[in-house]
Amino acid sequence: HIEVGGDAPYAIAIGAGLLADGDALAAPLRGRHVLLVSDSHVAPLYADVVRDALRRARPDVRLDTFVLPAGEAAKTLAGFGDAVAALAALGATRDACVYALGGGVVGDLAGFAAACWMRGIDCVQLPTTLLAMVDSSVGGKTAVDLPAGKNLVGAFHPPRAVFADTSVLRTLPDRELRAGLAEVVKYGAIADAGFLDWLAGHIGALLEREDAALAEAIARSCAHKAAIVERDPFERGERALLNFGHTFGHAIEAEQAYDGLNHGEAVAVGMVLAARLAARLGLAADADAEALRRLLERFGLPARLPHGLDPRALVARMRLDKKAVAGGLRFVLWDGPGRACVAADVPEDAVLDVLRTA
Ligand code: NAD
Ligand code: ZN
Repeated sequence: HIEVGGDAPYAIAIGAGLLADGDALAAPLRGRHVLLVSDSHVAPLYADVVRDALRRARPDVRLDTFVLPAGEAAKTLAGFGDAVAALAALGATRDACVYALGGGVVGDLAGFAAACWMRGIDCVQLPTTLLAMVDSSVGGKTAVDLPAGKNLVGAFHPPRAVFADTSVLRTLPDRELRAGLAEVVKYGAIADAGFLDWLAGHIGALLEREDAALAEAIARSCAHKAAIVERDPFERGERALLNFGHTFGHAIEAEQAYDGLNHGEAVAVGMVLAARLAARLGLAADADAEALRRLLERFGLPARLPHGLDPRALVARMRLDKKAVAGGLRFVLWDGPGRACVAADVPEDAVLDVLRTA
């Protein structure tokens, strides 16, 4: 268990088989209405396990299921509207609970529906991707996308509880697993050099999806995210460090062709570039940046800029990043393994240089 403190504390439980543990899943339940939200890939695999477990523990509960089409394209206001309509159809009262069973798309949309229904009801996160287990299910950010951009409408709404069942990662596509591993490496890079060493020694076990290795990686990642989020719940300062690799990564995601890198892959490239930028600015050693690149590569993640991306176009995207401030380019930079800092006014020349030699 990892405890997340703050105004509304909650626990993250991690382990194989948790989704079948009805008593554990039902413990946060206050009322008699449950809406299980999932997507079209995950629901056929795991919705019955969760429904049976909850019904066994709480036969008095009225439970409906709402299934989104799988994929980012469903994270819309229309999908949100359908989810709250499902709460209305259920007759959900103020003590109802939304269970979000899926990746970050389901977690963000279901969390936002819970944040808004009757001005806020409980949400329990049941993350089924590694990315959702180590990132999106923890920290209370919920949102949907608009045509104008990702995550533009949302709310801070911490979950009541998080249950990360490592056994469901066996059905996760390889590419999605590696995308989650990029975010896992990120926690080591920004906060924990010892964790980077541990990861380097467990690459095979993690790629083979061994429960014990996965549980350890998830627990250590969540502990770092929880500590940072606890100190800065509304992203006024330190929480920005979680964006290490993301300024480059978001620009790559926005600039590339439609079937390019996924988020985690783009962040992997972004971390390599950010580390090289730090080395170029004299903050980190070249050898450390190179070691980070090698670790990501051993996890099967890309470490080079995809062909055909124009450095100038990428810099222009970075200026538009919603986390950018007025003036110069803002980056999370690296002081070497386990240490990161925010740099407000990074010279554009240095950024272009790093992009040109990537
Ligand atoms: P996702 O939810 O789209 O899941 C990826 C794919 O894996 C989907 O096709 C899904 O159906 C499938 N899948 C999920 N679990 C599976 C399983 N166990 N077995 C087989 N298939 C499975 O994507 P994601 O990477 O989990 O999340 C990305 C989203 O998370 C983005 O919308 C992003 O904005 C959001 N996000 C939010 C936060 C936050 O703090 N709230 C942080 C990071 C990312
Ligand atoms: Zn990310």
